[in-house]
Amino acid sequence: PCTDFDIAYFHSYSHLGIHHEMIKDRVRTETYREAIMRHQSFIAGKVVVDVGCGTGILSIFCAQAGAKRVYAVDASEIALQANEVVKENNLSDVVIVLHGRVEDVEIDEEVDVIISEWMGYMLLYESMLGSVITARDRWLKPGGLILPSNATLFMAPVTHTDRYSESIDFWRNVYGINMSALIPLAKQSSFEEPSVETITGENILTWPHEVKHIDSYSVSIDELKTVTSKFKFSSMMRAPLHGFAFWFDVEFNGPAIAPSNYHSTSIVDNHMANGSQRKRRTNPNEALVLSTAPEDPPTHWQQTLIYLYDPLALEQDQLIEGSVTLSQSKENARFMNIHLEYSVGGRNYVKESVMK
Ligand code: SAH
Repeated sequence: PCTDFDIAYFHSYSHLGIHHEMIKDRVRTETYREAIMRHQSFIAGKVVVDVGCGTGILSIFCAQAGAKRVYAVDASEIALQANEVVKENNLSDVVIVLHGRVEDVEIDEEVDVIISEWMGYMLLYESMLGSVITARDRWLKPGGLILPSNATLFMAPVTHTDRYSESIDFWRNVYGINMSALIPLAKQSSFEEPSVETITGENILTWPHEVKHIDSYSVSIDELKTVTSKFKFSSMMRAPLHGFAFWFDVEFNGPAIAPSNYHSTSIVDNHMANGSQRKRRTNPNEALVLSTAPEDPPTHWQQTLIYLYDPLALEQDQLIEGSVTLSQSKENARFMNIHLEYSVGGRNYVKESVMK
């Protein structure tokens, strides 16, 4: 059922600003284009569905790659604009814009390819992946292609003294006035909710932990309702722990059953905490990765930070153990609850936050 929250959600995508922000993110948009071109042998002459087409950019890339037909589906009013773009590019014979939810629209044939840019902050915020799963289960042919093919959410503990000081220590001396009385409120207002911001490898205290790996072909809607993962970090430095950072990457690989002219090798990603030692992707047969990691070129997703109200002093090699649970909010399925439990030096802590 389409709830009031869905209506508000789709309305937010009717504004061009959000599409401008996504499209001008060259890391995002060029990686998608590259993924489409690399999979041209799957797309040329085939039927594609673009789940959440927005302005239609990915559908048009697929048309350029030779698709026979592209169903460009979007429930937002932006679909009407996508249709104008398609017409102006003389692609109306190929790209069929459907204004409606993928859950509701009718497509009277099976499709060879599903493409979608569904990733939200912290990967799962906005819960749009469920709509990709619905499209897969409604229309994808056996052996069909899904782009991206898989996704991974990572987390790591961070130190960020500058950020903490500018929000909190600021109040200690304001034009010579001691406003420390405001510090409890400052902690609340600065750190209650997750914060989308850019950090660097230098803020990261350990190797990242894999919170969730998603295979687009096999993931179910049920397994996304609650994601829990246990972590055990060992701090590489003596530093204050200010919180935890989350980021993700997605890969564009072929399906399990590939045409004979296609070869794909998955590489093990080299997530270095502070280096640029990530493997170069020069071999066209290697996995194509769209990464939002702090050590990689920045994207509009940045990283998502969950700050602690009070920093914790860490020694080198000190353990941070605990678990994180991401779940859909009962109040609004597009909101995400983040429940963090962690213990450091024999003390246990809990941090609850909601991404709205
Ligand atoms: N593919 C475009 C836009 C991505 S933003 C691009 O890459 O630039 C995601 C889009 O998905 C939004 O326009 C949103 O309205 C749409 N969307 C999200 N859930 C949907 C659903 N269930 N059915 C149809 N469209 C959906």
